[in-house]
Amino acid sequence: MNNSNSEIRGVGRARQRMIVEQLESRQISDQRVLRVMGEVRRESFISEALQSRAYDDSPLPIGDGQTISQPFMVALMTQELNLQGTEKVLEIGTGSGYQTAILAELAGKVFTIERSYNLSQQARKVLEKLGYSNVLLRYGDGTIGWDEFAPYDRIIVTAGSPDVPDSLKRQLADGGIMVVPVGDRYRQDLMVINRHETGYESRNAGGCVFVPLIGREGWSANG
Ligand code: SAH
Repeated sequence: MNNSNSEIRGVGRARQRMIVEQLESRQISDQRVLRVMGEVRRESFISEALQSRAYDDSPLPIGDGQTISQPFMVALMTQELNLQGTEKVLEIGTGSGYQTAILAELAGKVFTIERSYNLSQQARKVLEKLGYSNVLLRYGDGTIGWDEFAPYDRIIVTAGSPDVPDSLKRQLADGGIMVVPVGDRYRQDLMVINRHETGYESRNAGGCVFVPLIGREGWSANG
């Protein structure tokens, strides 16, 4: 066995440990989510310098002052979306592209928006390299959604918002689900919103900490 093989095995073990210790031991029970998180390599979405921490139980820096979300939070948000395989999903905050890849494995098509040009380009590169052909990336302000392809069966916001952006509520399909962290700049609650013919129903799925959602229907850029 050569070095690179043993390294790959080590990483595979770390990923399996993450599934057991960080996800199954908490409230992640959706078998599809567990399977896909056992397959997608988180190390592909972070820098060389952080490779040894790829399966840490925490967010990690990805440049531009942003972070790749904690694996547990990726799993929880994905589980709350209850994906069956055919959905059209809108993601706000592409970041590293890791959550995007998880969504692409579990849904029909993923539309993802990132406000940092560098991160958007970086994510495009890695998602292309990994062969995800059902992902459409856009650079811009995601708080106003992506009207062209609306409505979306699912919407996921991976940055903290002062309120649920109205544009995103409008672009959610009837029977659709949106997950969005809502709170102040430092702490949020993960809100799960269901749209019905007659209106919206929302539920708090627990506390969380995200970087701020900055844009027209989010926070202002200068604090
Ligand atoms: N899911 C990503 C999370 C990245 S952190 C991952 O796990 O890698 C949140 C991201 O939201 C950051 O990259 C930030 O630049 C982006 N963001 C913040 N406000 C935004 C907006 N209005 N539109 C699009 N992206 C935004």
